[in-house]
Amino acid sequence: MRLVTRAGWKARAPKNTYTVTWATRTEFFVHHTDGPQDQSIKSIQDFHMGPSRGWSDIGYNFLVHADGTIYEGRGWLTVGAHCPDHNRTGIGVAFIGDNNPTAAAKKSIRYLYDEACRRAGRKLRQLGHGDRFPTACPGPRLQAWVDAGMPAEAEEAPKVVVKDGVPQWPGRVLKVSEPMQRGDDVKTWQGKLAKRGWTIDVDGWYGPKSRTVCRGYQRATGLPVTGEVDAATWEMTWSWTKAPSE
Ligand SMILES: [Zn+2]
Repeated sequence: MRLVTRAGWKARAPKNTYTVTWATRTEFFVHHTDGPQDQSIKSIQDFHMGPSRGWSDIGYNFLVHADGTIYEGRGWLTVGAHCPDHNRTGIGVAFIGDNNPTAAAKKSIRYLYDEACRRAGRKLRQLGHGDRFPTACPGPRLQAWVDAGMPAEAEEAPKVVVKDGVPQWPGRVLKVSEPMQRGDDVKTWQGKLAKRGWTIDVDGWYGPKSRTVCRGYQRATGLPVTGEVDAATWEMTWSWTKAPSE
């Protein structure tokens, strides 16, 4: 894991520093910076310390680049400025980007989470910024990843074979899991549901939102309501022109 310390990115000195102990830390927040992936750490710090924010330092405890590099922000035990009312209890880690997290970045965020739990001596609660504050941060993809338990690596998806114009059952049950399932099979199924008029993100990630749609579809077609796309649910998706309550 590549870590760039404050000295490494030539951080400005903080105006103030308040620290807590590990006993106070109970939460781990995932954010995104809502900006370009190539934004420099220094420019983020300048923005946070400048007139529009006026904070004592860069707001986050750590930041993670798309290539997986970790940048030290305020560090483990300094109170940050990333989520009102949760800056003492919560460690804030930001992905540098806007709803376009990479596998490398997620691996590094997961590493920081595991390291935080190790140092705290217990499991910290996994949260997206939006779980505790009305904001779209950290974006739907990172939020789904947090909801799935922040899996470090995704399972390899099987190839979808199309026979007579019908995508065949890929052989794995699609479900919310850790690591989170991602792949063409998920996207193919989501795409078909979207075509049938269901409101679903066709992003190839099987997260809680896909599960909700799956349950609704199973209910509509009289299948057992499991929230998992098994062979019967997959085949039903292509065999019915219209479910009774669709
Ligand atoms: Zn945030």
